[in-house]
Amino acid sequence: MSDTITFSQEISNLLHATEGEPLKTCIQCGTCSGTCPVAGYMDHTPRLIISMINRGMKEEVLESNTFWYCASCYHCTVRCPQDINITELMYALKRYSIWKSKYKEGLIGPTFSESFVKMIIRSGRSYEPILAPSYIFSFGMRDMLLEVQGATELLLKGRLPVLPSRIKRLDKFKKMLGRIIPMGGLE
Ligand code: SF4
Ligand code: SF4
Repeated sequence: MSDTITFSQEISNLLHATEGEPLKTCIQCGTCSGTCPVAGYMDHTPRLIISMINRGMKEEVLESNTFWYCASCYHCTVRCPQDINITELMYALKRYSIWKSKYKEGLIGPTFSESFVKMIIRSGRSYEPILAPSYIFSFGMRDMLLEVQGATELLLKGRLPVLPSRIKRLDKFKKMLGRIIPMGGLE
């Protein structure tokens, strides 16, 4: 038996598979792709991305925007006849992609995710004005102005805090996070 772990096995490990490789049970029925509300924006549909993983097409999968466009709606997961957790697969691919620092140039998802995680580690709270620069400049001028207008209205109505805040017992929160995600370089 070969000691080299395949891409499909690596991804199965990230899915915390208790036995076998769940992705290998995919029958390529296409229910996931047919039910996915954002499949039209993806480079490859969920069905195809699973086929590519099973065929060991690691570079092509990591270059894809598919998992960054996933809206985590779980439609595919509840409808899959093979009980494959496709939503969790999309999360696993995001984690893997950031872990390996391999993703398509110009995607908003990786930068946004990193900013979000750093912010949560530092304060325990989400604060939109810190997150906005990771995506707002990729919009056209008109959309950018609409975003700014929307944010100003929320601010004036008190729905957006003026200053960022921190949770109590942040040190304990960080300790807990450190048990579930690698914190190196993020603090
Ligand atoms: S719905 Fe399930 S079995 Fe069908 S293609 Fe998608 S992952 Fe494979
Ligand atoms: S969970 Fe993601 S991949 Fe599945 S249907 Fe929803 S958006 Fe599509």
